[in-house]
Amino acid sequence: MTWYQKGTEGAEAVKDFEEDRASKFGGAYRLWIPAGGSTEFTFLDTEGFFFKEHNYFANRSWMNWETCLQDIGEEDCPFCEAGIRVYYECVFTVIDHAEYESKKTPGRIIKNTKKLLVLRSTARKKILRKRDQHEGDLRFVRMSTHRDDSKECSTGEDFEVVKRHTKAEVAAMAPKEWMGQAITPDVWMEPFEYVKIFQPKKAEQLERILGRVSPVGSGDGPSRSGGEESSEESKGSSNKPAPSVHSLING
Ligand SMILES: [Zn+2]
Repeated sequence: MTWYQKGTEGAEAVKDFEEDRASKFGGAYRLWIPAGGSTEFTFLDTEGFFFKEHNYFANRSWMNWETCLQDIGEEDCPFCEAGIRVYYECVFTVIDHAEYESKKTPGRIIKNTKKLLVLRSTARKKILRKRDQHEGDLRFVRMSTHRDDSKECSTGEDFEVVKRHTKAEVAAMAPKEWMGQAITPDVWMEPFEYVKIFQPKKAEQLERILGRVSPVGSGDGPSRSGGEESSEESKGSSNKPAPSVHSLING
């Protein structure tokens, strides 16, 4: 790895980065709460979108994911071959009721944010069991969650059903605009387009990304949930990649 990139190599790196940015910053944030934190959220869909993805450490962050190519069958998955841990994800679209202060406009409170609820292992089983207990339909069901420690799924795992909202109640939560564009409640209440957001990259593209990643130790995540920004958790990792020009491109 060099401290510079030339021509097509640099252009490809920028393209990979732009594609990541499209999914990370295109409004499809993942619901994440810190250890000890809580929130409430309401489901906008009930089916669940299941797929396999790799979670890896790069640019001092665990917030890096790539959809696994293993099951697609056309190409070998470079991330599997490199021994980077793969997770079986189950995704829903939810409204996060947590309140945040706007970074752009201090003093402005943002709440009722549409997010991806990405569930792993125990969290996934618990939510699917809740669905069974609620006529197999999670739509508009409001739950609370608490995350006891950083080993838990980044959504927390202590789920309690608060109530089932009516469609009208959920529609009333819709912001006037979303991602800078005027929207109607009906459009806002549509689940995310998972097939677009988690669209697998080409094997050669994953190989390029891999070339810029130093897998941590065995490739294990910081916890079985992984995927969160936490200096506490990344401290223990051996083999920490040194910041490079690539991290400037990437972030
Ligand atoms: Zn894979």
